[in-house]
Amino acid sequence: MPLTTFSSANVRASDTSFPKLKLARGEKSRIVCIEPQPVYEWVHKLAKPVVSSVVGKPVMEKRERGDGSTYEVYKLDFIRNSVCIGDPDILEDRGIDPDHCPACKLAKNSDMLSSPVRRYAIHVLQYATLTGSSQIAEPFSVATRVWTLTEKRFAEVVELLNEAGVDDPRKMDILLEMEGPEQMQGYKMKLGSKCEMLASKETLTRAQATFAGSHAPDLGPFCGKKTEQRYLTTDCEEIVAAWTRVRQAEQGELPSPAAPDEGGSLDSSLLDTVGSGLTPASAAGGLTAQPATPAPSGLDEFVAETTSNPEAPATNATPASSVQPDRQSAPVNPAGETIDFDKLFKELQ
Ligand SMILES: [Zn+2]
Repeated sequence: MPLTTFSSANVRASDTSFPKLKLARGEKSRIVCIEPQPVYEWVHKLAKPVVSSVVGKPVMEKRERGDGSTYEVYKLDFIRNSVCIGDPDILEDRGIDPDHCPACKLAKNSDMLSSPVRRYAIHVLQYATLTGSSQIAEPFSVATRVWTLTEKRFAEVVELLNEAGVDDPRKMDILLEMEGPEQMQGYKMKLGSKCEMLASKETLTRAQATFAGSHAPDLGPFCGKKTEQRYLTTDCEEIVAAWTRVRQAEQGELPSPAAPDEGGSLDSSLLDTVGSGLTPASAAGGLTAQPATPAPSGLDEFVAETTSNPEAPATNATPASSVQPDRQSAPVNPAGETIDFDKLFKELQ
């Protein structure tokens, strides 16, 4: 059996523990791509509506239009970004593969979920800059970060590079500025006037050494979590059940606000084995509003490991009960005997 030490070097890192590019409100940042190409995955953004356990009604969120007027959407709890398990060729061709992926199937047959979208990730170097500015600080210093991009943001980068006639993203800096006051409004992006990494042989050597010494081993998990079909099916069932509860709550059919987790009249046929016939009607039929697509929330909008559903099988295979010690009972050793701490301390002295 291998031995280890209580050293941070021996803590097993999660797939997405490498630092992501993040900006605080009003912050400016100067970056450069250190790789020529990003990776991407087709990803389903899984989220479900929330029914208040207090008032027994769906929880709504206010959104603002460009003209300042407001509207309401269902508040959605983010579950995770899950990599679509559809056939890659079919996804490239049609953008959806309901024959092989339960989430695509649900997206095709209801408005509870969207078709998969491409999520991109690439390593960038973030320059140390003067506070509140994109001007390089002395001495020259960079840090490797993972930059995740939506399809829209990816297209924006392509447009910026094309407009400037830049054929390789490593040849030009990108300046970012997080707009306030709401982080949801995202960040502005423009090209710098030059590439500071290429300013001298010394800066390039420093940049390459930084990247070589510090980068994420795999960018795939930053796009989305890879999962098995059964877990994706479970997630979809959860989403259908949540929309069913919303419909029941709106029609006053929920038995009691205190029983939000009952499946109610869940139409499980929606998620029959992938490939079989599927009831076209939405289980949440009668919805009075469209499910809200969560708005982009700046640079950190695709945090692959984030979940509001800690008991979901894809992220936590251990039953919750086995990791939550019963605080009422005395600690026991592996043999099941109650530990005598006084005796233990004496033995250790
Ligand atoms: Zn899919």
